[in-house]
Amino acid sequence: MTFSYPLFEIPFVGIYLIILAFMFGAVFASFITCAAWRVVRNEDWIRGHSHCDTCGHELSTADLFPVISYIALKGKCRYCGSKVPPRDLIFEILLGLLFAGTLALHGSVDAVVVAVLALEMLLLGLSLADWDSGVIPDGFLVAILVVWIITAGFRNDIQQFAIEGIISSACLGVLMALATAIIGKINKGSKVSYGPVKLAMCLMLFLGFKGSVMAVSISLVTGIVFALVCKSKKRALSLAPAISIGVILAFIVKDALPFFIR
Ligand SMILES: [Zn+2]
Repeated sequence: MTFSYPLFEIPFVGIYLIILAFMFGAVFASFITCAAWRVVRNEDWIRGHSHCDTCGHELSTADLFPVISYIALKGKCRYCGSKVPPRDLIFEILLGLLFAGTLALHGSVDAVVVAVLALEMLLLGLSLADWDSGVIPDGFLVAILVVWIITAGFRNDIQQFAIEGIISSACLGVLMALATAIIGKINKGSKVSYGPVKLAMCLMLFLGFKGSVMAVSISLVTGIVFALVCKSKKRALSLAPAISIGVILAFIVKDALPFFIR
């Protein structure tokens, strides 16, 4: 079963869907940053209530509108007046723009774009969790696999998609696992994490051979940048944000190249 709606068949509908994508991006960013925050602190991320970090007051629905609440309350807590860091606002705007841009570049509503949007949300969540705790929670990786299984069923190239994805994932997985083991042997005593290997293997499932090469190349560059940032901040290396940016850029370039050449 395949489904595809050309975005700009009716220009007004296309613009409406792009604005809608921005709003969904902001809402999902609000949800996933909160989920990541709770996962890192071992809180219940579904049933828990959001609260102010300074006064502990439970936040009402009116305090939780993405972007709008922050601007309306001028970045302060409604109850104690303490300043709320703009981090969440920045990520809400960022994911909103990413959703809108991804949809506009892709040019149609189909299983491919739904998978990329879902990945962008999950990658934001697991990158924040990794940055804050140094661990990539397995729950996010399971969610990525669920997105792959569900959206693959709606693609018209399911066979090629699945074969290329599994081969890319296995090849990169073996290489990265070997590299991680060797680094672990060299730095005896330091903790070795296979989280980035598992993450890269999950993500390669979504990329064909060309996309995988592109994602790995870009991730190598972003990985070096993040390694330098972590070194300058004297903190442990977080690879999830570097891998996430590499993969999202690969998706954008894959869609943008035909866009620019056309
Ligand atoms: Zn407060």
